[in-house]
Amino acid sequence: MDDSKGMLIVVSGFSGVGKGTVVQLVFESLPNLQFSISCTTRKPRSGEENGVNYFFMSEEEFEKKIAADEFVEYTKTFTNYYGTLKSEIDKPLARGVDVLLELNVVGAMNIKKMYPDSVTVFISPPSIGALKARLIGRGTESPESIERRLKEIENESKVIDKYDYCVTNNIARTCADEIVNIIRSEHLRVSRQNVNKIFISEE
Ligand code: 5GP
Repeated sequence: MDDSKGMLIVVSGFSGVGKGTVVQLVFESLPNLQFSISCTTRKPRSGEENGVNYFFMSEEEFEKKIAADEFVEYTKTFTNYYGTLKSEIDKPLARGVDVLLELNVVGAMNIKKMYPDSVTVFISPPSIGALKARLIGRGTESPESIERRLKEIENESKVIDKYDYCVTNNIARTCADEIVNIIRSEHLRVSRQNVNKIFISEE
């Protein structure tokens, strides 16, 4: 795998699908994978750290970065901006390091357009019923927020067929292993390898 180029892996999934846990397990299996830390104007949740989960900033700071053309893509949801910094992906890619991005469907499709070699993975719940139960059961969302998230789920489900892969999060470990397998297999694509290396080396 040493000669293969760095790869972008974009992971998306419905709100409440358990993306965070799955992605964390993927990182445990692939220690050389780098996470693209996004910028956001939303407030940190408990346990989240600046510069680890996100770069948390004010709307003014975010808009300064837009004006300075620092983002490869950004989006504004109901109340917050989210954006991927060019520096978060271009630097590791140039060094041959794989980068995993966790983006909403709009961001994922934009990255795919700009980086056709990127690999997009959608994490799906075992069923919509299970997801609704989980969203309600979390107890952290108001009825309006649940309603809004369910509407978002309906919209996002229309573009799942644009992703390269879809994995089901029934058991987080299994789902993470499937993503690890996708990443390993993608590296074996002829287009990602220097297949002529056997003629260069004497050994
Ligand atoms: P959360 O507030 O729950 O961390 O994230 C909300 C949504 O924004 C999730 O779907 C997450 O994947 C997405 N997101 C996080 N960072 C970015 C980003 O840089 N760009 C885009 N387009 N979406 C992002």
